Amino acid sequence: MLELRPTCEHCNKALPPNSPEARICSYECTFCAACVAHVLGNVCPNCGGGFVPRPIRPSKNWKGDNFLGKDPASTTVKHRPVNVAAHELFSAALRTISPEKR
Ligand SMILES: [Zn+2]
Ligand SMILES: [Zn+2]
Repeated sequence: MLELRPTCEHCNKALPPNSPEARICSYECTFCAACVAHVLGNVCPNCGGGFVPRPIRPSKNWKGDNFLGKDPASTTVKHRPVNVAAHELFSAALRTISPEKR
């Protein structure tokens, strides 16, 4: 199950579970859409993979107790700002390869 982390790792912007701005990599590294586009170049600084929009967990119990009331979002902040200069070096080549070919 996704943790639904509460903020962007880089800028610490709040990303509540219903935020359409949340982006995750396959390891659930979590950033806001602006940081993914303008800082990261769609390259995860932790694994090199790409990002997709984070799915939104229902707030209401539509079926089988599968909702935020039973499985709430994480409250553990992972604020690990990216070293922008280092990321430029790391991601320079990766940015030219689409995520499905990395
Ligand atoms: Zn951000
Ligand atoms: Zn990652």
